[in-house]
Amino acid sequence: SPADAADIGVTGMAVMGSNLARNLARNGFKVAIHNRSVGKTEAVIAEHGTDGEFFPSESMEDFVGSLQKPRVAIIMVKAGGPTDAVIDELSSLMDEGDIIVDAGNALFTDTRRREAALREKGQHFVGAGVSGGEEGALNGPSIMPGGTKESYDRLGPMFETIAAKAEDGKPCCTHVGADGAGHFVKMVHNGIEYADMQVISEAYDMMSKALGMDADAIGDVFEEWNKGDLESFLIEITATVLHHKDATTGEPFVDVVLDQAAQKGTGAWTVKTALDLGVPVTGIAEATFARSISGGTPQREAARGVLVGEEQQLEIADPKQFIDDLQKALYAAKLVSYSQGFDEIAKGADEYGWDITLGDMAAIWREGCIIRARFLDRITEAYDRNPGLSLLLSDEYFSTEIAKCIPAWRRIVAFAASTGCPVPVFASTLSYYDSVRAERLPAALVQAQRDYFGAHTYQRVDAEGTFHVEWTED
Ligand code: NAP
Repeated sequence: SPADAADIGVTGMAVMGSNLARNLARNGFKVAIHNRSVGKTEAVIAEHGTDGEFFPSESMEDFVGSLQKPRVAIIMVKAGGPTDAVIDELSSLMDEGDIIVDAGNALFTDTRRREAALREKGQHFVGAGVSGGEEGALNGPSIMPGGTKESYDRLGPMFETIAAKAEDGKPCCTHVGADGAGHFVKMVHNGIEYADMQVISEAYDMMSKALGMDADAIGDVFEEWNKGDLESFLIEITATVLHHKDATTGEPFVDVVLDQAAQKGTGAWTVKTALDLGVPVTGIAEATFARSISGGTPQREAARGVLVGEEQQLEIADPKQFIDDLQKALYAAKLVSYSQGFDEIAKGADEYGWDITLGDMAAIWREGCIIRARFLDRITEAYDRNPGLSLLLSDEYFSTEIAKCIPAWRRIVAFAASTGCPVPVFASTLSYYDSVRAERLPAALVQAQRDYFGAHTYQRVDAEGTFHVEWTED
């Protein structure tokens, strides 16, 4: 009977789906569960049945039948085709007003397409970004749901209950905006994650190569940094990883890991989307390309021993000062990456008509997700001070903070360039900083060239209007 029907359902009982279902059940919700192959559903009941009240179903019909109306069903299956198949199946069994949530990692354009299709049928489709991996899904993720306000009225209370809580007790979940807004913001979150991870690795690389420090000693530095402005999940786990010893060899773990970083595509999505929107997310782009370079085995083989560096061997007189410089450069590069990421969210919101409160995005990333960090509060405060802020870096707090880092940042990039140490994120973010603040850019020459060969016209510094030179007249 409806009285004891489930509050919410989850289909897809692999690691993410089962953990999300358990999180819901532990928080007192009655949770219908389903998986294509019955074994995974049975395993959840056998191993975690005592977490709360589960309603297991073998068929999709029974799964839908066990849900309270208006129904809410979360899909947590393999992204792409499988997600489309499950949406079709669920939708055909559901009624008008019911809500289908895709909590997997979908490209926001897919989410927009799926939302439009379900809207035609009077059903709600919510693309919800879920960050925090397996652990987050079980104990409190950061959740970024898109879709209609109406669907959030029904979903919000449940999601906010199971989401991570920030230090001030606020849930790391809010209605992001219409249709694909949630998956868009999750995409940019992952892009920022790429930049954060890369720039941390660049700092590690410089301590290793320039100062000859071993993994343990570098781990100690990150542990120290985690007590200051850089305090974050990624800095914390970096220290832990660097202190970890390989079980087989006893060597520092990082030293036995092959130096090729894989990627599942969300960084590339962020960059492709930024290119389409014309947003310069240079830190994220360089971080994504850095992974591609690392994985380009034939190219790295071809370059080995052939491409010489003629690096200078620079003496580091004061290692303590050098580490202090690295810390400041890291903070500055990080601020630029975040500023660029928020620029992309703002442009995306403009392009797709989403009403996104930028400060809230930083607020819901404070816990539960991979880029959780102390300084996210500063971003929220900046947008509170000025909701129309067009460049996060120009906020008085950030511009003052970054000013303190500039000499150190330049010394690190200069040192890296002189000694042949690759620092794509340190360097590209500094270039962005110098570009965006420049009084005059060489774009004047580019525009003049365009006018020459393509009659693309130009504007003048001293008059209104559009001009063109008849270059080939004589
Ligand atoms: P997954 O390995 O991506 O997918 C496995 C699940 O998908 C299984 O339940 C499987 O059912 C089901 N499935 C595959 N093809 C299907 C089809 N054609 N029809 C119906 N079901 C199908 O699982 P996951 O790692 O838990 O991730 C789930 C989603 O969360 C993905 O979109 C992923 O990108 C996203 N995500 C994952 C993480 C993470 O840390 N793993 C973090 C954030 C987001 P069977 O058991 O029957 O094969």
